[in-house]
Amino acid sequence: MSEANAPETRRFDTEVHQLLKLMINALYSNREIFLRELISNASDASDKLRFEALTHESLKGADQDLAIDVSFDAEAGTLTVADRGIGMNREEIIDNLGTIAKSGTKQFLDSLSGDKQKDAALIGQFGVGFYSAFIVASEVTVETRRADEPAENGVRWTSTGEGEYQLETIERADPGTTIVLTMREDHTDLLSKWQLKRIIHHYSNHIAFPIRLAEAGKDDEPETVNDSKALWARAKSEISDEDYQEFYTSLTGDSEKPLSWAHHHVEGNQRYSMLLYLPSQAPFDMLINRDEREGVKLYIQRVFIMDAAEQVVPRYLRFMRGVIDSADLPLNISREILQDNPLVRKIRAAVIKRSLDLIDKLAGEGGEAWDKFQKAFGSVLKEGVIEDFEQRERVASLLRFASSKSEDESVGLDAYIERMQEGQDTIWFLTADSLKVAQNSPHLEAFRKRGIEVLLLTDRIDEWLVAHLHEYKGKQLKSVASGKLDLGGDQAEPDEAAKKLAGRIKKVLGEQVGNVVAGSRLTDSPGCIVSDEDAMSLQMQKMLRQAGQEVPETKPDLEINAGHPLLELMADTSDDKRFGEFSQLLFDQALLAEGGELADPAAYVKRVNDLLVGALGKDKDSDDDHAASA
Ligand code: ADP
Ligand code: MG
Repeated sequence: MSEANAPETRRFDTEVHQLLKLMINALYSNREIFLRELISNASDASDKLRFEALTHESLKGADQDLAIDVSFDAEAGTLTVADRGIGMNREEIIDNLGTIAKSGTKQFLDSLSGDKQKDAALIGQFGVGFYSAFIVASEVTVETRRADEPAENGVRWTSTGEGEYQLETIERADPGTTIVLTMREDHTDLLSKWQLKRIIHHYSNHIAFPIRLAEAGKDDEPETVNDSKALWARAKSEISDEDYQEFYTSLTGDSEKPLSWAHHHVEGNQRYSMLLYLPSQAPFDMLINRDEREGVKLYIQRVFIMDAAEQVVPRYLRFMRGVIDSADLPLNISREILQDNPLVRKIRAAVIKRSLDLIDKLAGEGGEAWDKFQKAFGSVLKEGVIEDFEQRERVASLLRFASSKSEDESVGLDAYIERMQEGQDTIWFLTADSLKVAQNSPHLEAFRKRGIEVLLLTDRIDEWLVAHLHEYKGKQLKSVASGKLDLGGDQAEPDEAAKKLAGRIKKVLGEQVGNVVAGSRLTDSPGCIVSDEDAMSLQMQKMLRQAGQEVPETKPDLEINAGHPLLELMADTSDDKRFGEFSQLLFDQALLAEGGELADPAAYVKRVNDLLVGALGKDKDSDDDHAASA
């Protein structure tokens, strides 16, 4: 035996080790998914072989009669899953079954809390893959040979899932992979025909290859237990709702039912079939992996080619799931070719249209499903307003927001327009860090007084959204915090005294502030921050800074409410020091109400305390005065 052929012991990556421990604990009660994962891998491997056979002369014909064989031996306590797919060479097995290669997995692991129930839900959403075999098995053996390697280059991989695995070179006649699980004592109840049939039926019925079940030593002929005809290729009239739902389960592994689906066969000189699902929950990594789309699978004549890329499913619809199968795309298609293929462009347009139709329909029906959708995907959909110019208005019509008249995020732009006041021609919005900050913003005062609704935008992406959506159905969108407020009606010009007061405050605040103006937007608050019509909002500046970007220093403007008692008091005082303190306080408070940050918070606290002590002291003084005069 040569050096390379000697059995070798290797350690798992720490992340694998961590995942194994967590998974075995968290998924104990969900143990049956292991079979779904192993069958799904066998199916992927068969897909890959079929794909390579198209382009590799040496593999021609190797993809005939592909099937997945599940067999069990109750006496020996073993379960075997075998495929005749692409297999793995030594290097691949080390990469695939010893490390966690997928991006996002690390973040996923970090987001686990240790709370069994919560983690089980999270892990359930996450394709747990091969390692889930250790939920039920005390030992797992994988024997495999890559389809393009000679028989003597087979590999045996063995592990008890406790930190190490053994590798050995073996001779293997057939290409493909055989996985043998030695079941733990408490899971041997799964080793029966009806149990395995039930599990396969539940999770894997629509796998595109025949799944054959046999009991070792008892069955001469294995029994095919799934329905492997590609569902999406069938006529709609032949398919029941249960079929569609089952197919969704086997396609995605999602434990929840889809919200809805759309199935179309397009005929003519460019033929394709498309089955799209709207899921009810977001995969854990949807917001992390903006570029990875595993949702929609691209097939060419029933051969799986790849997960649909940006060129097929735009980013803002990355939550969609399903299958697209075309007879007319070139089989050697690559991501680069996707870009300039006219049929791909046509399919993409159809994906967008059909997806938005589904969402539209859901919006029309309202209710719980629509709420679920908004919670799970509302933020992602907003990206469409930014990215898809053509669909901007259509996507915008599907967004929902909180407003000054409705706390739950349920106000659409159309509903807003319908409720506009007589003579109102602007869609007003306010951006803030949180709903609380938004609701308490002094900016709302003038609008409340006039009964004008204001959309409260508190999602991180909202700043970008309004930067791209200046207009909707002929109505301008404007921030309530932007420079000039033209609300019509009773807006008196500030008088000379108010202007003088504003000038005095500006002089005291100096370089901290842009302009100080006496305005009419406030009724209850003494002052608020306003921004120039075209300037970046404070909120946006803050986010960009948090993201590590250089943002040019822009000075906020301060609007004062000259009718407020504090301002009246200030106008009357001739004590310059006191006036200075009040001015600073006014400005700091306006910044705070905006959710902004103070340059010197400690100075602010000290100032407030000094004023409080001053106010209390003054009360005492005036009491003394009283006593003296009595
Ligand atoms: P995923 O399937 O999401 O990639 P898994 O943990 O299920 O993650 O599998 C990891 C990798 O191991 C697969 O991507 C594949 O490369 C390889 N693999 C697993 N099972 C098989 C198999 N039966 N045949 C060939 N390769 C396999
Ligand atoms: Mg897998």
